This record gives sequence, C-alpha cells and structure tokens, in this order.
Amino acid sequence: MSNHHESPRLLSPALSKVMGYKPLIDLAQLPGNGRRIVDRHSSFNLILLGNEQFVVVDGGWDPSAKRLERFVKNQGLAMKDCVASFTTHAHVDHLGFLSVIANNKSTKVYISEAENEVLQGRAPVSGSVSKLIEKMPGIPSVVMPGLETEILSDGDVVKFDRLEVHAMALPGHTKGSSGYLFSNARDGSEVLYSGDAVDFMTNGKVRIAPGPLNDDDATNWQTVIDLPSRLISMHKDHAEIVPAHSGNSNVDTLSRAVASRMILESEIRTL
Ligand SMILES: [Zn+2]
Repeated sequence: MSNHHESPRLLSPALSKVMGYKPLIDLAQLPGNGRRIVDRHSSFNLILLGNEQFVVVDGGWDPSAKRLERFVKNQGLAMKDCVASFTTHAHVDHLGFLSVIANNKSTKVYISEAENEVLQGRAPVSGSVSKLIEKMPGIPSVVMPGLETEILSDGDVVKFDRLEVHAMALPGHTKGSSGYLFSNARDGSEVLYSGDAVDFMTNGKVRIAPGPLNDDDATNWQTVIDLPSRLISMHKDHAEIVPAHSGNSNVDTLSRAVASRMILESEIRTL
C-alpha cells in the first residue's frame, strides 16, 4: 500500500523543481486579466471579465474550494459571479472545486465529450496511476454523475463580452484532453490554458506527463508537435501557453523545442 502514499509525493513541487520543470508561481498574473492559483503540484486559473464576473479553468485538488473562495472574496467578488468553468480533463487534480462551482446555477460547466463521459461515471479514468490515485483515501472522486455540463468540441467558441474562448482538442494525456485559448480584445492577449498536454522545462525542453499518468504517449507527442503550427494557422502565434503543472511558456519556445526535438531523451523513442 506504500505506493498509495508515495504517488502524490512523487509529484511534489520540490521534486518537480529538481526534475527541471519550470516552476509554478502562485498568484502569478497572466495576460488577459488571468491569475494562476497553485494548489499542491497542480494549479487552476481564474480570469476576471471586468464586469464583476469571472471564469475559471480547471479546479485544482481542493473540493472545498477554500483558496478560490478567499481569492474571489479579496477581489470583491462572490462565487456566484463565476459564469463559466472550463475543464481541460477529468483528472482529480483538475476537478477540485467543480462540485462547489456546479452548485451555482449561474455557472456553465464546459468540458469535452470524452471527459464528460468520465465525469458522469460512464467511462474509466485514464492512466494507470491516475486510476490508483482515485482510489486513495481522502482523494475526492472524479465522478459527478448528473452534473449539468455543456460539451465543447475542437473549434467551438464561447463568447463573453470582449473575450472569446476557443476550445482546442489536445488528445493523448487523456482521450478528450482539451485546451482553451482565451483571446481578449481588451488587451489583445492570447492565452492557451493547456492542462496536462505539455510541460515546459527550465532548459527549454518540453515533456509530456510520465507514462503511467498518460493515456496514450504517441498521441500526446503528436499533439505537442502539431500545436505550434495549429496556433500559427489560427494567427495566435503570440499566445502564452499555460500548463497546469509547470510554468508558462509561449509558441516560440514550443516551436523551437519541437523543431529540434528538444524533449527528454528517455521519451524520444516514443516519437
Ligand atoms: Zn492529468
């Protein structure tokens, strides 16, 4: 049973740093009035809409949403001001406060179809370690049957005043993993919240999640390789890329890493 207790520690912020992941910075300001909130080794994001409302991307670990509530209160807002929640994928460290948010009748919960199947309990969680983590005592369930959701597919756009959110399928980490590209007309910013599709290292390399946490490494690498050209063809070449487990980067850095196959050597063979 010991590895039940080891697994979360394997992913501690200290070890992520030793492994060379770009560090997550709590409360880091993101373009487009976004704020990253670090929750253990994962993070979620809150984007202020400027009209006393906000949206969130992912949900961290904490099902009681304490940190989110405190942050929202400090901004002079309330949880009922959350108009939308975008979930990149149905892993427990991304769903934390979804059950709290879902109680708000005013909050729309957006997710891809394949991830919604997991959330509704109709499909299994992806990745062997992820399956184990779900069974650990004290870990909240990813299954929220009956949760009212709105399905987004690749290319779908959700609009809020001067903000457009483009859903992008980023499969591999899980079948229905998605990113959400926020195009904000207020400051001209473009931010792709990419979930666990790709992580950035301090040495300029990129990596995908370790195999046992991943559904399909080959598909995940193809997603990473294709991502720069997809963003460039959407005229989003200045987009900031914000993963959940490592520091932000951008299209240039990702393009360079992909062009020179600057990925972890142990993973080259999966290409
Ligand atoms: Zn994940």
